[in-house]
Amino acid sequence: MFKIGIAGAGAMGGRIGTYIKQAGYDVTLIDNWEDHVNRINEKGMEIQTETKTYTVEVPAVLTKDVSEPFDLIVILTKSMHSEKMLEQLQNQGSIHEGTAILSMMNGLGHEERLSQYVPMSQIYLAVTMWTAGLRGPGQLLLEGEGSIDLQRADGEKDERTEYILNVLNEAGLNAQISDDVFKSIWSKATVNSVLNPLCTILDKTIYEFGSYSESRDMIVPLIDEIVAVAKAKNINLDRTALLDKIEATYPKETQGLHYPSMHQDFNKGRLTEIDYLNGQIAAYGKEVNVPTPLNEMITHLIHQLEMKIQ
Ligand code: NAD
Repeated sequence: MFKIGIAGAGAMGGRIGTYIKQAGYDVTLIDNWEDHVNRINEKGMEIQTETKTYTVEVPAVLTKDVSEPFDLIVILTKSMHSEKMLEQLQNQGSIHEGTAILSMMNGLGHEERLSQYVPMSQIYLAVTMWTAGLRGPGQLLLEGEGSIDLQRADGEKDERTEYILNVLNEAGLNAQISDDVFKSIWSKATVNSVLNPLCTILDKTIYEFGSYSESRDMIVPLIDEIVAVAKAKNINLDRTALLDKIEATYPKETQGLHYPSMHQDFNKGRLTEIDYLNGQIAAYGKEVNVPTPLNEMITHLIHQLEMKIQ
């Protein structure tokens, strides 16, 4: 049977993994958090939604104890932990000649890092609009609906793309094949690179940030930098659409009352994904000779804040 490993089974890995498991697939959750793994194995993954609480039986294993090979590894660690996770899985024989890796992580540049473990033709990139939260070890909080756009990292189509699409759709994850996943990845990364660090630095909800009468003056130059770097990398972003998308999150009725995930991570004493957002944009800027002083400054500001939790 096609064996699927969810590498990094926190909030999002938990959602994707339990959904696929409920569709009847052979799924193993792989994680380093011992209490989480133990509780899932003892009591199943407890899922609370807006309307009900239920449990999904799914095997979980500590990364150091994984020994079986997988046909598909869905990587959903935080970005900074993906390489260590995959290196460990490779050393333990879980990545074989034909293993496909599907990344649903936020941020940029994952295809380059994942290509250390499998050829580009076995890497799949996805952008997801699903969200997920953790209430505690083995306890997910799953609200709302979402979708997934995916594409093989080299832009080619193959039977496996269709197979993965089918798995995700049988699991009710509302997936489609994209013909330009990089545009979607960069668009989401732009929104995240604006709202995540600014709300974290300012310690504001999205609504509070947007209430400042000159917030547009703060974000337009930042968006322009990102659009210019993307353009130099042959990715055509629509700056007006991005600005609209960001400003549409401000009202209390949309996402305004939330703190972005970076703010939540930082306030829980966890490192952020800044190096895969503004930091990666600044690094790409250097490669393609596009100045990115704002993205560099924002990266430094978050690194300075992170010094408090290291
Ligand atoms: P997460 O923090 O829930 O899980 C990531 C890892 O941290 C897991 O291995 C998890 O077990 C571990 N972890 C979580 N809480 C812990 C604790 N208290 N103690 C010890 N270990 C703990 O991260 P996530 O939200 O699932 O994000 C994974 C990737 O998916 C990231 O790239 C993120 O940007 C992306 N993403 C997340 C969402 C979302 O709504 N959560 C949506 C889209 C994309």
